[in-house]
Amino acid sequence: MALAHSTNIDIAAALAEAEELYRARNPKSLAQHHAACAAMPGGNTRSAIHVDPFPLTMVRGNGARLWDLDGHEYVDFLSEFTAGIFGHSHPKIRHAIDAALDGGLNFGAHNATEAQFAAAICARFPSIELVRFTNSGTEANLMAVSAARAITGRPKILVFQGGYHGGVFYFRGHGSALNAPFEYLLGRYNDLEAVEALVRPYRAELAAILVEPMQGTTGCIPAERDFLAGLRASADDTGALLIFDEVMTSRLSPGGLQQVHGILPDLTTLGKYVGGGMSFGAFGGRADIMEHFDPRRPDAFQHAGTFNNNVLTMNAGLVGLTEIYTPERARALNAWGDRLRERLNAVVKRSRLAMQFTGLGSMLSVHMTDRPIRSQDDAEQGNAKLRDLFYFDLVGRGIWFAKRGMFALSIALDEQDGDKLVEAVEEFTQTHAPLFANAQSG
Ligand code: PMP
Repeated sequence: MALAHSTNIDIAAALAEAEELYRARNPKSLAQHHAACAAMPGGNTRSAIHVDPFPLTMVRGNGARLWDLDGHEYVDFLSEFTAGIFGHSHPKIRHAIDAALDGGLNFGAHNATEAQFAAAICARFPSIELVRFTNSGTEANLMAVSAARAITGRPKILVFQGGYHGGVFYFRGHGSALNAPFEYLLGRYNDLEAVEALVRPYRAELAAILVEPMQGTTGCIPAERDFLAGLRASADDTGALLIFDEVMTSRLSPGGLQQVHGILPDLTTLGKYVGGGMSFGAFGGRADIMEHFDPRRPDAFQHAGTFNNNVLTMNAGLVGLTEIYTPERARALNAWGDRLRERLNAVVKRSRLAMQFTGLGSMLSVHMTDRPIRSQDDAEQGNAKLRDLFYFDLVGRGIWFAKRGMFALSIALDEQDGDKLVEAVEEFTQTHAPLFANAQSG
């Protein structure tokens, strides 16, 4: 106990030192942060990218590289939280955007690309027979959940601890006061028995089950196949609609995780990279469900949105999905991701430290615990201060990723970039090994 106590004091001291170094290296980002605070609360318009003591400001990206305001270069292992799968300014995306600009924006009408893009999405994702576009993943989930409630005439939505489906669907930690005011049942991820017991009294009230086939934000925690199969059965049994939020996981195979598992939801939501790096969201699924949105019907659901079919997203998304992130490319990137994760875990294993990389394919997360991670509760066992230290250490070595520990690969990264990450992790384990001994969780 005494040893654990002193170790935790050492971690706090190491973290304070790392933060001091970070401050000293980044005076321009610090000044930018102070200036930003004058017009945005906390200098921020997007909670997920805030970093204590202050965030870095990036000024340029090219391929798999980023440069910050103080002139440091980074290998981009965050890839815009999965949206930046093409790397920065991919020539084909650039060309698609240029072509769109040449033809003019904001028609207030249908454009020639949207139906082609929709067809490419339907061809790609097994459960999607018809699709509609939105401007974000959050909006896609709002539409999918609202449609499920309207179609079933029921009020309740089953979601999961640690789930994240956008700014108004935040089920991590203690949740959020800003969540959309639906009636939620909050289940435990990867625990079918507990979920079935939770749902039993409300079977006739359940409109939808909304689930990430791998929880991304909470630390790349894959759903077990049996869990997803159980949710499918539960939806069939209760008459609720099963919604897979594949906003992040759609990149994990040519047809998302639904294809990997061979489990088809009734509705799927998409976002991130599918829009070619532009603002994007989509929801789609079974034709008989989506046909409620057919405006030729007298009882059609209303779903407007000025930018739903904006030509920048339609053009960039179509090229991205059909010419760049092709099925072959998706298989290759995710196979590389699996190999990289195995290499990182081999480094960790050699070091004997309580640390691991979870995830699937091109998405991975670091956890400072060696216990199996199947839920948010398991992820919370990790030592948060060691994870912060890892962040400042790797960012100082020119590796860009999310402070909460998430990495997402882009097709712009190469083997040398992978080697650089493996070396940085190895150096971290060697430098800080003494801190891990007896470190407490939390
Ligand atoms: N669902 C999941 C699984 C996500 O990871 C995110 C964004 N991180 C969203 C929905 C929300 O998407 P957006 O940020 O485009 O609103």
